[in-house]
Amino acid sequence: MSRLSKSQFMRGLQCHKSLWLYRNKYDLRTHPNEAQEAIFDIGTDVGILAQQLFPEGNEIIYSSDKVEENIAKTKQLIESGTKTIYEATFIHDNILVMVDILHKGKDGWEIYEVKSSSAEKPAYKNDISVQYFVLQGNGLDISVAALVHINTEYERRGELDIKQLFTIKDLTDSVIENQPFVKEQLLLQKEMLDKSEPQIDIGLHCLKPYPCDFTEHCWKHIPNYSVFDINNLTWKKRFELYQKGILKLKDIPSDFHLSDNQQLQVDCELNMKDFINPDGIKKFLEQLEEPIGLIDFETFQQAIPSFEGQKPYQQIPSQYSLHILNGDKLDHFEFLGEPGKDPREELANRMIEDTKSCKTILVYNIGFEKTVIKKLALLFPDKAEHLHSIIDRLVDMIIPFRSKDYYTKEMRGSYSIKLVLPALVPELSYDSLDIGDGGAAMDAYSRLQTMTNLEDIEKIKSDLLKYCELDTYAMVKILEKMKEVV
Ligand code: SF4
Repeated sequence: MSRLSKSQFMRGLQCHKSLWLYRNKYDLRTHPNEAQEAIFDIGTDVGILAQQLFPEGNEIIYSSDKVEENIAKTKQLIESGTKTIYEATFIHDNILVMVDILHKGKDGWEIYEVKSSSAEKPAYKNDISVQYFVLQGNGLDISVAALVHINTEYERRGELDIKQLFTIKDLTDSVIENQPFVKEQLLLQKEMLDKSEPQIDIGLHCLKPYPCDFTEHCWKHIPNYSVFDINNLTWKKRFELYQKGILKLKDIPSDFHLSDNQQLQVDCELNMKDFINPDGIKKFLEQLEEPIGLIDFETFQQAIPSFEGQKPYQQIPSQYSLHILNGDKLDHFEFLGEPGKDPREELANRMIEDTKSCKTILVYNIGFEKTVIKKLALLFPDKAEHLHSIIDRLVDMIIPFRSKDYYTKEMRGSYSIKLVLPALVPELSYDSLDIGDGGAAMDAYSRLQTMTNLEDIEKIKSDLLKYCELDTYAMVKILEKMKEVV
């Protein structure tokens, strides 16, 4: 068997078939999308920043064709008395690992694995345990095996405080306890790789701890609309049906418990019918008073806070679009924060001004908007009264869809605007936009913060404005549709 890397070992722990396919049929893998790439980039930035916890170390630069060289260089650095090495590279028993930060402490070598996440996850123990196994195999005396992750309680004041930004969690005892498990699993993986493709069916392991990148291959027997699409049905229950050979909605046994909404989804699909309760929709519409504002925010978050008073992964509103409907008149207002500048105060001022004529302010899924505005009110007490007056005028447009007063089979049991919109207004689509969903908008705004090319900046700003405007225009169209059906 050729060399196994740490990430391959982690893959094998999740599913032997995933490891086997990765090594033998790599082309079947789905490549990471932009959002996943963005997460990797954040991980890299966080890793580099965490090196400052142990400054002035020697860095080994990874390159797939320089692994032997890097192993030799690590050995040489250790022998020459280097105290801190970043990406220290080791091999033992054909397992290759790179240690984010290797530091010589007073009691021995210390391993620090850096993650950009905000908390410890169960999979991290195995990640660090395999590093411990390999380093111990290289004869290193390890005194600490620890996880370094982002501390979400940290609030930036002035310059970044690296020590406060990170939390170091000592996992040495559990990593030592975990060694027999790691050795056993390594053996099983090596034996498995010497054989033909393992016959493993799909299951919860396809989702946890990480979504597997071979699902396109392994899940191709699942029909386009199946028991896996029943909204809010737990994965455990979906697999319960699957394991009984039930894939299509029509085959679900009558005694299988579904909630009322799930049953409605199944019934509407099987009978090719929609469900509309005009009285319920009418009641919802009666509470709306013109001028009606229809508003939507975009937020972004950063692992490494850029602004004063910002916390890691805190959601910061960066943009809004507002349509105001008054009789036949439809006006549009918008705001987009300038790159490199905290957008919150200007956004709050502009929103207060733009919404002041609105008697009702419609949002889609009120919890999110309410939280964002409440946080702005806490941050700017001088504007709190005006911001709370916005909250008092908010009405949630999701209500008729969540209560299933308005349900079409195209919504597939969901009341998310991403399904409600194409179901009600199929001619309105995000397909032609360069930024077509909230995740992409969040990534684009984060990228703007460090961009320097003016043309690129203007292009992204224009894409962001178009995307957000379409969001509230979609709400205008949904409102029209509701009026039509009553
Ligand atoms: S999709 Fe599921 S079964 Fe297939 S390799 Fe991945 S985890 Fe294993």
